[in-house]
Amino acid sequence: MSEAKTTTFIDEICAIPGGEDIKVCIQCGTCTASCPNADRMDYSPSHLIAMARAGMREEVLSANSMWLCLSCYLCVVRCPRDIKITRLMHVLESLSARAGLNSKRTTTPVMYKGFNKYIANTGRISELWMMVGYYFRTSLFKAIGMLPVALSLFTHRRVSLKLDKMSPESIKQLQTIIAKAESSGGDK
Ligand code: SF4
Ligand code: SF4
Repeated sequence: MSEAKTTTFIDEICAIPGGEDIKVCIQCGTCTASCPNADRMDYSPSHLIAMARAGMREEVLSANSMWLCLSCYLCVVRCPRDIKITRLMHVLESLSARAGLNSKRTTTPVMYKGFNKYIANTGRISELWMMVGYYFRTSLFKAIGMLPVALSLFTHRRVSLKLDKMSPESIKQLQTIIAKAESSGGDK
């Protein structure tokens, strides 16, 4: 009787669209040299990739590196293997959140969830209400500190109290797209 195949960390990464690129990295270090936030990360982008390929699941998923990625795409335009490192960072964020290894390092998942909720329910983003929800879920103290910024944005008409919504038919179509994305490895 043949033994069931064990899922490796690389398998987990490759199962999410965008993760499969990790296999072709040649460890040239160009992404790290290009990254404006590498010095703040526990492990630089190329270091993180090397660790992931070495199967260091816990260390990789509890690192702050992916949560500090700014999605600036500098690494992506310079990578000689055309690896979409930014996407890879998002894959690692997703796996980290699923494994519950991110909780003390970042509040970004709270923001992602708020963003997804708004999009799924209305098809639009209200920056003001999304950020109100984020600060109330993460830090009331910070929420109070951000009041002058919110007021300034409001008086300059950069944010609105209005909640826009797509038509019910469009929201239904959008929810079908989101369900498809979730079934292929995305998170809610
Ligand atoms: S630039 Fe590309 S090939 Fe080079 S280390 Fe980074 S991901 Fe790997
Ligand atoms: S996209 Fe992220 S990992 Fe790439 S250079 Fe920018 S901050 Fe660094």
